[in-house]
Amino acid sequence: MPVRRPIERLTRESSRARRRMSSPLAAVDRFARVRLGHAPTPLDAAPRLGAALGVELWVKRDDCTGLALGGNKVRQLEFHLGAAQARGADTVLVTGAVQSNLVRVAAAGARRLGMDAHIQLEERVDEAGDLYRDSGNLLVDRLLGATLHSFPVGEDEAAADAALERLARALAGEGRRPYVIHSAPGRPPLGGLGYVLAADEIVTQAAALGVGFDAVVCASGSAATHAGVLVGLRAVGGTMPVRGICVRRDARRQGARVAGAAAALAAMIERPSAFDEGDVDVSDAVLAPGYGRLNDAVREALEMAARHEALLLDPVYTGKAMAGLIAHVRSGRIAAGSRVLFLHTGGLPAIFAYADRLGPWLSKAPWPPAR
Ligand SMILES: *Cc1c(COP(=O)(O)O)cnc(C)c1O
Repeated sequence: MPVRRPIERLTRESSRARRRMSSPLAAVDRFARVRLGHAPTPLDAAPRLGAALGVELWVKRDDCTGLALGGNKVRQLEFHLGAAQARGADTVLVTGAVQSNLVRVAAAGARRLGMDAHIQLEERVDEAGDLYRDSGNLLVDRLLGATLHSFPVGEDEAAADAALERLARALAGEGRRPYVIHSAPGRPPLGGLGYVLAADEIVTQAAALGVGFDAVVCASGSAATHAGVLVGLRAVGGTMPVRGICVRRDARRQGARVAGAAAALAAMIERPSAFDEGDVDVSDAVLAPGYGRLNDAVREALEMAARHEALLLDPVYTGKAMAGLIAHVRSGRIAAGSRVLFLHTGGLPAIFAYADRLGPWLSKAPWPPAR
């Protein structure tokens, strides 16, 4: 398949491919990829927050991947949009929550590659106010000039994909060359390849810093990130547990989703032994009351990270993931004194879209001042 990329980029990628030729991740290079992000991202110590929790905490800063406010979707979309380019697409279609980071980064990546983006926004979070529908990611989607479509159902991925397919057929009828990024499981989880490579990046950075991690903690949503990190670590010899924190589904359903994605990824990179079902670790202890909805544990996590480290977390994903990390430390599941890597997956535009729900809680420090 012809891959439309500038010559210089092809040369860079093929020298990278040569370097990886004999590596356990060599097969990743068989998949089309376009570079969109800033990598490697920093791996920072977080000593004050770590001390407050009683662990040695490090943070992998994938909120710093660049591209229109960054986050984990940048690494994932390098593969989805690589596939789109390889097929000669000129329009990308993607679906997600109203405050989806995936659709924002897909629209941004499409623009960088000279494509149009159609994004379908699912009504997943009830009790959402005006800010939720106007600010944060949605504002960026509109700045990028993506065409927005609304989808009334929030929890039917197959129906959301079917609606995208219909839209793609209509666009094809107008002479466009659409590429659909599906959300339901059952297709190769291309985005997970970005996190297979990120796991390798983490192992390389940890070795350079002379540290070994006892556990990795990340948000687990579509599962591309969680499964990618898990399979990537195992493929390059990393044995530490990857503790996924559920942000959307209960532990039983999420565990099955991670297992499916991880098995698929291990097969895609031709390392079937890099996945073992017993290795899937998910917790839904801080999920309630549900996707995109705050709870006290999330508020505490946002506050602790900001006030000890100036580390900003988002209310939907990384706030829940940090709340899950804190719950694991308090329950002893993550032992006191362990060396823990928190994967910061981004999502920060959403803090502005949640200002009306974060504000009343922050009003212990009243603003505006009373006159
Ligand atoms: C999408 C997202 C996640 C979850 O990643 P998945 O790969 O979908 O599991 C975590 N954090 C942020 C900020 C996200 O946007």
